Amino acid sequence: MTLGRGDTPDVIANARLTGSDRTDPFGSDIVDVHLADGLVVDIAPAGGLARRGAVLDAAGGFVIPGLWDHHVHVVQWALVAQRAPLGHATSAAHAASLMAAAPVLPDGRRVGTGFRDALWADRPSLPLIDAATGEIPTYLINADVHSVWLNSAALRREGFAPDGVGLLREEPAFEISRRLNDVAPEVADPLVAHMAQEAAARGVVGIVDLDMAWNEEAWARRLSAGFDALRVSFGIYPEFLDRAIAEGLQTGDAARGAASDLVRVGPLKVITDGSLGTRTAACSHAYPGGADDHGVITVDTPTLVELMTRATAAGISSAIHAIGDVANTHALDAFSVTGAWGTVEHAQLVAHADIPRFARLGIGASVQPEHALDDRDMTDALWADQTAQPYPLRALADSGATLLFGSDAPVSPLDPWRAIAAAVFRTRDGREPWQGHQSIDAATALAASTRNGSTAPARIEPGDVADLAICERDPLTADEGGLRSMAVAATVLGGRLTHLG
Ligand SMILES: [Zn+2]
Repeated sequence: MTLGRGDTPDVIANARLTGSDRTDPFGSDIVDVHLADGLVVDIAPAGGLARRGAVLDAAGGFVIPGLWDHHVHVVQWALVAQRAPLGHATSAAHAASLMAAAPVLPDGRRVGTGFRDALWADRPSLPLIDAATGEIPTYLINADVHSVWLNSAALRREGFAPDGVGLLREEPAFEISRRLNDVAPEVADPLVAHMAQEAAARGVVGIVDLDMAWNEEAWARRLSAGFDALRVSFGIYPEFLDRAIAEGLQTGDAARGAASDLVRVGPLKVITDGSLGTRTAACSHAYPGGADDHGVITVDTPTLVELMTRATAAGISSAIHAIGDVANTHALDAFSVTGAWGTVEHAQLVAHADIPRFARLGIGASVQPEHALDDRDMTDALWADQTAQPYPLRALADSGATLLFGSDAPVSPLDPWRAIAAAVFRTRDGREPWQGHQSIDAATALAASTRNGSTAPARIEPGDVADLAICERDPLTADEGGLRSMAVAATVLGGRLTHLG
């Protein structure tokens, strides 16, 4: 029979195994991986056991555990498809002219996304954007989502007073994002389904969804409509914590009212500082430019401790956004006094003394290696005076911390192979490796892109849930380009094909 998406193969034939610390006897021999009831039930030399049922021929490809992206903003990532890309804008004037040419959406607005203004020679201003875009409400979202540039028509529409610049930062920027992302389900859900299919085609079986919304309802709705491409663990923001506790949600529970158990309750998500691109990440040394500007802690210690204490008592894990070194110390302190479990999200700049605390506290480092390359010039410019270590992946791994890789899509594209390549080679576009001493080995990077992270080896054994991907090359020996362009022949979720190339 010919297999297709949605089918459940009984045997993945002619595959090869990879991964570190393997306990199987097969080396690089060709094997068959036998599946039943959503599990891996046996692995044998090719043809060594009868191939019963539906056979998927891996043709010598490498079978790996299905990949996870541990930090995604789902609706924002899905909506990128209808927003003007601004990643290549080289100045404020350039970004304004790109928006002048951008299509007007059915709701009468223009939305662009992905600009990086920190190194522009000119500055965003209201006259500049108004001259280019006139009376059509126009929104430009920073790549890091921590600032938004609006024209006068958009400021009026959103009820914000014009200040001459039109740049909103942190909470007001998040408020604009929430409003822009609050699109009708009949618009958002097909885009989410499409995005999930593209993720499955990269070998992804699961994501952590950190949309700023009451996500359970949205996911139950999508599952009822047939969504079955990914596992999802969804975050809960502080404004929804009371509701989550009152309704008895606990991390790991299946979403209520859902047609399957693919979607589960994830962590409390708290954003405790700004970002590098918006120059608001809380750092121990000042940003360049004269003023004594160290960024901002946006949730003070008593508030953070109180949130994490309540979440922990209710059975909800914590995912604490911390980018600057001061914010990382603050987050680790809160984990230590509350006994909360979970992750620090981003950990982009970490004091040397704090690096061993991740492993000691059992707190995962949920990091986005591709940001290191997106931001390398900005980091060198804006954090030149910082004494803490930027993107300390090697130091964290060596200290025994669990690394969990993600994209923070839409900040970088939802593609774990980019994260793996960036972590191993710390370069792209032929440039010198950036801070090469912080690169990690491919086995660790691959494990960091699987469900349980870098301290759980990425290997396949009988009894495992059959969340698998088949890739054309061995990720442990592929070069940088080979990792970035890794061809994924098939993805299997709980024994069911979600992608077949
Ligand atoms: Zn994020």
